[in-house]
Amino acid sequence: MQLSLQGRSVLVLDKAQFGSGSTGQAAGLGAQLRSNPSETRLLMEGIEVVGEMERKLNEKIFTRTGSLHVAATEDRAGELRDFVESGKTIGFDIELVDREFAKSRLPCMRTDDLIEFCYCPTDGHFAPSELLNGYIRIARDAGATFLSQTRVEDIMMSGGRVKGVQTAGASFFAPVVVNAAGPWSYLVAELTQTPMATATLGHYYLVTEPVPGVQISPTDAAIRDRANRIYSRPEMGGLLVGSYEQEPVEYSMEALPEDFQMSEIRIQRDNLNVALLIEAASQRFPFINERTPMSVTTGIMTFTPDGHALCGPVHDVEGLYYCTGFNGRGVFQSTSVGFLLADIICKGRSRYQMGHLDADRFSGEPWLGDRESIRTRCCDRYANHYLIAPKS
Ligand SMILES: Cc1cc2nc3c(=O)[nH]c(=O)nc-3n(C[C@H](O)[C@H](O)[C@H](O)COP(=O)(O)OP(=O)(O)OC[C@H]3O[C@@H](n4cnc5c(N)ncnc54)[C@H](O)[C@@H]3O)c2cc1C
Repeated sequence: MQLSLQGRSVLVLDKAQFGSGSTGQAAGLGAQLRSNPSETRLLMEGIEVVGEMERKLNEKIFTRTGSLHVAATEDRAGELRDFVESGKTIGFDIELVDREFAKSRLPCMRTDDLIEFCYCPTDGHFAPSELLNGYIRIARDAGATFLSQTRVEDIMMSGGRVKGVQTAGASFFAPVVVNAAGPWSYLVAELTQTPMATATLGHYYLVTEPVPGVQISPTDAAIRDRANRIYSRPEMGGLLVGSYEQEPVEYSMEALPEDFQMSEIRIQRDNLNVALLIEAASQRFPFINERTPMSVTTGIMTFTPDGHALCGPVHDVEGLYYCTGFNGRGVFQSTSVGFLLADIICKGRSRYQMGHLDADRFSGEPWLGDRESIRTRCCDRYANHYLIAPKS
């Protein structure tokens, strides 16, 4: 969308339907506050971009519920106080709040074991399909072309720079190619013999049906209970709860069938990771147990070894860019990564200091050529997703 709005001629190809990958499975939550202040500012601007999209489309895309962070131990309480201090220094709306306030924003949560709470009133969530449709409609109006069922089979090169891409039926010539193939990105990167430091890991969340006697309103706050490794938000009268478990399941995208659909991944209720998710959810929401009527959604996330996306030029291949590796935050981050990458492509620079997203930052690492080493690093990162954040 952002490239089209900057006047570029854009062609978007998808081997299946748009939104049929990770995006279609996402829970759509996001927190603007990050340990890197530049990234927080970027995400704050992303929310403004969505406000503009809503005005243009005359449609609501973002649900602002506010979000709570909670702590049951002194070290986690210190983490929340650091969040508040670092947020305030850059003008992000965040406050320590008391138990009564937290309870009023999310009445179904257990609070008797908690000692600290903070609240970010401008956070919320997206329905990923509505956000994606918004991008597509605005981009089409600005002249972009979208072709589904069109797999990129090769990246054409000449003298160290890209010339375009090849599909089964056609060659499309272009001076710039962006690899934004989500979990499949590392396979697309292999077309130019550029190893990519991403791994593809299973992730689950549950959505309860409305529970008699439990009050859950669509305006209740989202929550992150990092010590219990869970996030949550209201959904259709029930509660959505997801978890970053200790031992994620890995997927090899090359081993999946040609017609693989992420929405068709099925998971048994007695699967160990689902049992761990229900157990973790019940710590904060005691009305949830293995007999609670619920659905479980699963999909594949793309993780990097350091928890940051790969976004920008690949310096060894002129004209090639990455926009991938979103570590479970790609729906929320898309609102800002779009204009960040469009600025880098069209103007050669961005207003934001985003060196930590550099697409080449792992080049030269001795483990980069070894997929097993990459997977181990990415699995560690997933398992430590909610480790105590370093003070920024
Ligand atoms: C269960 C789950 C919950 C999540 N919850 C959240 C959340 O709450 N908040 C959040 O922000 N993020 C969340 N995420 C992460 C989020 O879904 C991803 O970060 C985001 O959707 C990534 O978008 P993408 O466009 O990079 O990848 P995708 O949506 O996977 O899109 C990649 C596309 O590339 C296409 N493709 C692949 N190979 C080729 C090829 N060779 N040629 C052409 N096309 C190709 C695929 O068909 C696919 O449609 C969640 C993910 C999962 C699985």
